[in-house]
Parts: sequence; C-alpha cells; structure tokens
Amino acid sequence: MGREGISTGTINIKNVEIPGHYLIGEWNRGFYYAMEGFNCARTLVAAACIGAAAEKVLESGIEHIKKRKAFGMPLAGFEGIQFQLAEDHTRLESARLLVYKAAWMFDEMYKKGRFSHAEINKAVASAKLVAPTTAFDIIKDVLTWYGAYGYTKEAGLERGLRGVASYIIGAEGAQNIMRVIIAREVLGKEEVS
Ligand SMILES: Cc1cc2nc3c(=O)[nH]c(=O)nc-3n(C[C@H](O)[C@H](O)[C@H](O)COP(=O)(O)OP(=O)(O)OC[C@H]3O[C@@H](n4cnc5c(N)ncnc54)[C@H](O)[C@@H]3O)c2cc1C
Repeated sequence: MGREGISTGTINIKNVEIPGHYLIGEWNRGFYYAMEGFNCARTLVAAACIGAAAEKVLESGIEHIKKRKAFGMPLAGFEGIQFQLAEDHTRLESARLLVYKAAWMFDEMYKKGRFSHAEINKAVASAKLVAPTTAFDIIKDVLTWYGAYGYTKEAGLERGLRGVASYIIGAEGAQNIMRVIIAREVLGKEEVS
C-alpha cells in the first residue's frame, strides 16, 4: 500500500543448522536482543513520522493556507482552519517531546547505565503509539486544506498517508501492542496476564 521503495515479504527457514561460531551474544538470549533492537527501531520510526512526515507536511500546509483565498480571504483567516492548526501544532510538539525523551533515555542507558529496560520500554512504546497517528492525522488535515489538489497524486500527500499508516498497522509493532507494553509497565507484570 505504501513505502514502495522497499520490498516486504516473508522468509521461511526450515531444518537449517548454523555452526556454533556464528552465535551472536549468549545462547537463548536472541529474543531479548531482538526486542532491544525493536526499541531502537521504534524510536527511529517515531522520529521519521514526526520529522519527515508531520513537520514537513504541516509547514507546507501553513504556507498553503496563508496563500489560498476562499470567500475573499486566506484560508488561514478562518477559525475552523485555525483550530485544526492549533491542535496539529500541539500534538506534533507533544509527539516530538515523547520521541526526544525516548531517544535520550536510550542514550543514557547505553552511555551511563541509567534507566531500567522497563522504563525504556514504556517511553519507547509511548512515542511509537503517539507519533504515527499524530502524523497520519496531520497529513489528513493538510490534505484537506489543499482541497481537490490534495487528493491528487501530484500533491504527494496521499503518499505520506500510505507511508505512516504502515506504522499504525504494524511495522515495528502494532498500536495495540504498544498499549499492551505501556499498560504492563505502568501496572506491573503481575497485574497483566
Ligand atoms: C509495511 C510493513 C513492514 C513490516 N516489516 C516487517 C519486518 O521488516 N520484519 C518483521 O518481522 N515484520 C514486519 N512487519 C510485520 C509487523 O511486525 C506485523 O504486521 C505486526 O506485528 C502485526 O502482526 P500481524 O500483521 O500478524 O497482525 P495481527 O497480529 O494478526 O494483528 C491484527 C490486529 O489485532 C491486534 N492485536 C493483536 N494482538 C492483540 C492483543 N494482544 N491485544 C489487542 N489487539 C491485538 C493488532 O493490534 C492488529 O490491529 C511489517 C509490517 C508492515 C505493515
């Protein structure tokens, strides 16, 4: 549906034996290494959603509503548009700060041994929960501000929607799974089955 510059598929591996000297890290810790990798990837995709997607698109939307006139005045003069812009701006700032916090905590963990895995999991899942939906909603608003032109492929906004949707659906973990992680870390493992 989107992100057409990369291919996505499935690999099946059956009856394959790998010589022991290819072992990475400790035996039976692979799942945990993979999960740590996911925390890093989730922070990066959340950053891509707010930067490459939402911020650039909102900037272009602001330029457009200042220029485009309807009923004798720029779209930016209508309160209905201003309210959407105010929401979008605030949500973008909130998502950005969540992503910065997750990235900073990650750095602190590796450089100074600060923060537990549980704290990092919660911060990263919060950033990954908020950033893709924020980007999707901002792109949708800007696409609407562009009117019929926004609906064309030439405007490029539909490509942004298709791209960030992948992070809502599942790439680097589905949104409900981010909610599962956050609830588990807030409530404690013993409270969550
Ligand atoms: C563009 C793209 C690229 C991807 N790239 C990779 C990749 O490089 N490597 C890789 O390994 N995978 C990749 N994935 C797969 C991705 O990790 C999965 O799509 C994702 O984990 C969801 O799994 P699923 O598709 O099997 O859906 P399902 O697990 O069947 O989930 C379907 C729906 O049910 C919900 N759901 C599932 N379990 C629960 C629960 N316990 N509680 C509440 N709701 C739940 C989900 O939120 C989702 O909405 C990619 C996916 C996409 C879309």
